[in-house]
Amino acid sequence: MQTLTGLTLQDIEEITDTLGASKFRARQIHNWVYLKSASNIDQMTDLSAAFREELKQVAQVTDVKIAQKQESTDGTIKYLVEFADGGCVETVLMRFDNRANLTACVSSQIGCAVGCSFCATGKQGFVRNLTYKEIIEQVLVIQRDTGLKVTNVVFMGQGEPLLNLDNVLRAMEIFSQSFRIGARRLTVSTAGIIGGINELAARKMQSTLAVSLHAPNHAVRAQIMEIENKYNMADLKSALQNYTGQTGRRVTIEYLLIKGINDSTDAALELAHYIKDIKCNVNLIPYNSVDDRYEKPSGNAVMRFKSVLEQSGKKVTVRLERGADIDAACGQLRGRAGAAGVDTRQCGEQGSTILRGRLG
Ligand code: SAH
Ligand code: SF4
Repeated sequence: MQTLTGLTLQDIEEITDTLGASKFRARQIHNWVYLKSASNIDQMTDLSAAFREELKQVAQVTDVKIAQKQESTDGTIKYLVEFADGGCVETVLMRFDNRANLTACVSSQIGCAVGCSFCATGKQGFVRNLTYKEIIEQVLVIQRDTGLKVTNVVFMGQGEPLLNLDNVLRAMEIFSQSFRIGARRLTVSTAGIIGGINELAARKMQSTLAVSLHAPNHAVRAQIMEIENKYNMADLKSALQNYTGQTGRRVTIEYLLIKGINDSTDAALELAHYIKDIKCNVNLIPYNSVDDRYEKPSGNAVMRFKSVLEQSGKKVTVRLERGADIDAACGQLRGRAGAAGVDTRQCGEQGSTILRGRLG
């Protein structure tokens, strides 16, 4: 039994060829999967009943389940998506004021090996990479459930996308070709995996690259992000300059503001100096509390930091907190029991065991 999600038009043509049907049928099936977000073959009403029966013998649309769903008062929806092996990840749908813009925040791995000190996913440890099909399923889960078409995808859920680059690249290709989501509406966020950044540069990717810098210098970054000891800020800067040169695209520097750690005026000045010769915008992210280790910055500190940085001539935005009442904000995705009432007992036994096993 084949699962249609993740198949390209050419892959679907192979199925229709085997069944002795025309390429036009393949196009219809393809559009039902990606654009009309069918959940099952019976919904594909422009195929004859007889052909649907034949197709059902060899294929199904999906093999994932929604294990849990939570809706925020601001319209954000968080899904706990369960894959065939019982593994689960969280996926978030964010709507902004402009309702035409529906952004899916997808996970690229179950857990994460990078282990940043402020991140809920990092605390979970690494379980496994997602396949490209599992990445695509997350967007389809949203589309099927809401009946709406996702317009933007950000790889800002669980996991480090550049440590699962092949699957992420293949998923991005399908987002562009099959979902018709333009490359510029796709954003990959990385903790700064230099090899991956160079690979994106070499491919001249037209998607957006966001980099979790989060500190104005090596010492502070090493204190909060272990990865700084492997890929330091000096090398990261060269990689970003190479990236902007090769792609012609501006990068987004993400900067998590944590009270008393990296939110001072001096830090803003030092950051301004570091990014001076990088073609970039800056997105400030007020820390979302995941435990007692760090605190949120004050509103004043955020505004002061922003205005100091703006004097350097860069465009600076502050990330709106979405879905705070359901722990759907950045860094709060854990995909496990205990997070905002998400109960992974509803996930398959195996997945729950993996997650429990990792978390003790
Ligand atoms: N692994 C990638 C993408 C997933 S994390 C990366 O690190 O970039 C998406 C964003 O959420 C990153 O910028 C990350 O640093 C940020 N984040 C992690 N924990 C957070 C927290 N507690 N509060 C706010 N943002 C957080
Ligand atoms: Fe992994 Fe990103 Fe979380 Fe760091 S912030 S632990 S890289 S998911």
